[in-house]
Amino acid sequence: MKYSEIKKEDIEVYKLIKKEEKRQKDNIELIASENFVSDAVLQAQGSILTNKYAEGYPGKRYYGGCEYVDQIETIAIERLKKLFNVNYANVQPHSGSQANMAAIRSVCNHNDVILGMSLDAGGHLTHGYKLSFSGTDYIAYSYGVNSETGLIDYDEVLRIAREVKPKLIICGASAYPRAISFKKFKEIADDVGAYLLADVAHIAGLIVTGYHESPVGYADIITSTTHKTLRGPRGGIILTNNEELAKKINKTLFPGCQGGPLEHVIAAKAVAFKEDLSEDFKNYIHQVVLNCKAFAEEFKKLGYKLITNGTDNHLLLIDVKTSLNMTGKQAEDKLALVNITCNKNSIPNDTEKPMQSSGIRLGTAAMTSKGFKEEDFVLLAQIMDKVLKCQNKKDLKQYKRAIINMAHKYCK
Ligand SMILES: *Cc1c(COP(=O)(O)O)cnc(C)c1O
Repeated sequence: MKYSEIKKEDIEVYKLIKKEEKRQKDNIELIASENFVSDAVLQAQGSILTNKYAEGYPGKRYYGGCEYVDQIETIAIERLKKLFNVNYANVQPHSGSQANMAAIRSVCNHNDVILGMSLDAGGHLTHGYKLSFSGTDYIAYSYGVNSETGLIDYDEVLRIAREVKPKLIICGASAYPRAISFKKFKEIADDVGAYLLADVAHIAGLIVTGYHESPVGYADIITSTTHKTLRGPRGGIILTNNEELAKKINKTLFPGCQGGPLEHVIAAKAVAFKEDLSEDFKNYIHQVVLNCKAFAEEFKKLGYKLITNGTDNHLLLIDVKTSLNMTGKQAEDKLALVNITCNKNSIPNDTEKPMQSSGIRLGTAAMTSKGFKEEDFVLLAQIMDKVLKCQNKKDLKQYKRAIINMAHKYCK
């Protein structure tokens, strides 16, 4: 990208964008929630649609001049409904967290009981964490994972649900490497008479291509981000098959939680959803999953302990404390020295504080977008192993060169 107008107007910001562009080119990106969008998505998001106010929904706006943004938002909605095979979709949430705020508020009043996966077991802040609206506005309880297997124990979730009697159960995670059974969550929700919210922020791309079970038919409400495996602009979405709930969700999001929608982002969502409906995208997600399996297998071969001993999706969690006697923070920092970006992550029964933690989370979605195949991830695991065990700075330099070469391998 040229950014020539920014260069003319604001050299300070221009220089930093160029530095970030170079960083994204020269680094191996393993943050499981990130991805690289197409130029078409970038252009839509950078378009003049940012000038338009459009409070309300297509055909029912509080402002004039909405005839074109109405059509764009309708296209986004229709494509999204087709993608997930649902009857109602809202494409206005500014983020995944906003989507969850509106979804929870649509079925819960203040101080109702909610039950979600705990943050340290792999859940998200908005599933009831004490510092989030979800933990302060509601009475939030949590379920975790089995400390031996790292897996969700559905019998345990049922036991907790029967005990705390939630109005809403939230399933879905940010750092869970295995498949989630929405069917089992639905049985638990039915047993205790709770609504079920499936937050598929991480695995949405796998769901729409058939590489993960869909929550449609099980969850009352489905939320997601659009910028993770769906490979769209930063943002959120809310889906349902229930007409009454759909009306409530629309009202709760606007005017309940947000003002004017970001029509430039909605246009970028529409473009991304078109891409997501393609055969190319299905092949891409297939490769993401193959790559993740190959990556996990190589780490296991090298002697690393993986949480749940492997992966079913686009991410894996390594217990670096057991494997190398280092903290997640130390591992993250060491990898950063050779241009590998990832994040420390708590593991089940973590003895370290969250800012240190005992694990790292690695995802394959972003580098698969750059063209990485299984053999690239196998080689990457081998280099990462050497880097993590490396004791002298000189060797690190040589690994850094190798990583930059790898990062450039498929660049145009
Ligand atoms: C990323 C994520 C979100 C929130 O997304 P933001 O756009 O950062 O607000 C919500 N739920 C889950 C499970 C996530 O992984």
